[in-house]
Amino acid sequence: MKTSGCYIWAMPPIIALFDIDGTLLRAGGAGRRAVELALDEVLDDLDADVSLESVEFAGRTDPWIVRTALLQYGVAADDGLIHEVLRRYVAHLPRELQLATAFEVLPGVLSLLSELSAREDVILGLGTGNTEPAAYAKLARGGLDSFFSFGGFGSDHADRAALLRVGLERGLERCAEPQGRERVVVVGDTPHDVAAAHAIGAACVAVSTGGYDGFALEAAGATVVVSDLGCAAVRAAFEPTASR
Ligand SMILES: [Mg+2]
Repeated sequence: MKTSGCYIWAMPPIIALFDIDGTLLRAGGAGRRAVELALDEVLDDLDADVSLESVEFAGRTDPWIVRTALLQYGVAADDGLIHEVLRRYVAHLPRELQLATAFEVLPGVLSLLSELSAREDVILGLGTGNTEPAAYAKLARGGLDSFFSFGGFGSDHADRAALLRVGLERGLERCAEPQGRERVVVVGDTPHDVAAAHAIGAACVAVSTGGYDGFALEAAGATVVVSDLGCAAVRAAFEPTASR
């Protein structure tokens, strides 16, 4: 049976933690532009326009990205300054998302989330480097926000494995009777997702719709590698009988 916000299973539950960028959707550069605008405001004594072309975004957390960008401009970032940049970033993001003509929900995502959300044994959550408000802004742009009610976020921790642990703990809170039988499946698009999944003892479905190809994801140790989330191998990873 499934109750509102609290679940009881005959079968061991599966806690799914989905990455967002490159996995569920492509934000069409909106995130990068919003960070640049936020940094432009905070670093207003710089002569040059802020450009983050050299900063890696894929698989990184928002606090990591901002700290790295600030260091690029010779600014030693304390937590207060990072928080201020992220606050401004979140304020710019909805407009940039609306302007992003290249924004797209990735193939197979809508049907997969629809199927998993209807399953009584699956707890659908997020494991993303986005801050929580940024995550839901991106999901809302793609009409995917209603599928998720919890997760681990970049606003919880700058380290990806640590934020996945937070997401896992929140998923377990949704178990009426945590039994230690649950399986955890992380879905992501970078070796960072794979490494973080391993760090928390989770399986990892890696999809090559982000910046990394299947060979890189396989070499990183992904449990399953697929070209998009419509592939049958994704469903197999969520089979109730699949081993961990
Ligand atoms: Mg990603």
